[in-house]
Parts: sequence; C-alpha cells; structure tokens
Amino acid sequence: MPRKGETVSDLSVNQSCACPCGQSTFSVSGAPVSRFLCHCQICQSVYKQPFSDVTFFWAGAISLPEDHSIQFQRYRLPPALRRGSCAACSAPVIGFLRLAPFVQLAFVPSQNFSAPAALPSPSAHIFYHRRVSDAHDSLPKVSGYWPSEFAVTRMVMGSIFHGTSSA
Ligand SMILES: [Zn+2]
Ligand SMILES: [Zn+2]
Repeated sequence: MPRKGETVSDLSVNQSCACPCGQSTFSVSGAPVSRFLCHCQICQSVYKQPFSDVTFFWAGAISLPEDHSIQFQRYRLPPALRRGSCAACSAPVIGFLRLAPFVQLAFVPSQNFSAPAALPSPSAHIFYHRRVSDAHDSLPKVSGYWPSEFAVTRMVMGSIFHGTSSA
C-alpha cells in the first residue's frame, strides 16, 4: 500500500533500445510519460509505415552513449522536434523536443525496445486526419494539427500532475 504523499509508478521501464540494424543503441530508465500512435506525414515518411508507435519520456531517462551513431535533423513540423535516425540503417531511433531550457522530452519508437510488451498501451491516435487507413480500436482519435499537439501536451500535463517523473 502506498503511503500518503507517495506516488505509484510501477510502469517504470529499464530497457535497452536498438534500431533494426543494431548500430544505434541506448538505454532507457524511467517512467514513460505516455505512448501514442502518430499518423502525421513526417512519421509516415521516416518510419516507412502508415503511422508511428512512440513511447515518450523525460529526457533524463535516456542515456545516449558518447560514441552513438545517431544523426539529428529538424523538420518543419512538429515544431522544434529534433529527430534522430541511425547513420547506418536510417531508421528513426530517438527524437528530442525542448519545452524549456532544461526540460526536454524524448520520443522513442516503441518497436525498438528490448521488451515492448512491458510498455504502457497507447493512449491515442494523433494526426488522425493524415491516416492512410482507419484504425479499428477503441482509442481516442485526434484529428487536426493543434488538437494533436494539444493531446500530447495533455499527456505531459497528466504526467506532471500525477508526479510519475520529473525532468
Ligand atoms: Zn508524427
Ligand atoms: Zn541502424
């Protein structure tokens, strides 16, 4: 039984992540903020899939090795997201979104985790108006640019409110 004032955070993960070719690896240790399925066109093109499946954390949960082979690039949308892909196989491996000078979120493809089954279930589809095909599940489906951005913001605010982690 958690005592008063304690937060329950049994979703904390301690896993390694690797791109499909295995060249870009890093470890993740901490509680995920949330997980979503993104149908935006950038995700479709970089993931080469109809949508991405992304679990995200406060950046402090991520330990990138100093000699990592990840190449970072910025796309126009979403704003200020630094997307990192493997220099060898060009698959997406991590994205960083800076919210404030020392506050960053880290977005990791769910399929890259060593034990994806231990991750939380997705909480929503976002950028659903860009979908290639309809999703047949009971998750919320958020269409439109700002509603999609806002859905992610709400996941972050929920995480702060529930105190699962901090930057
Ligand atoms: Zn996307
Ligand atoms: Zn690779």
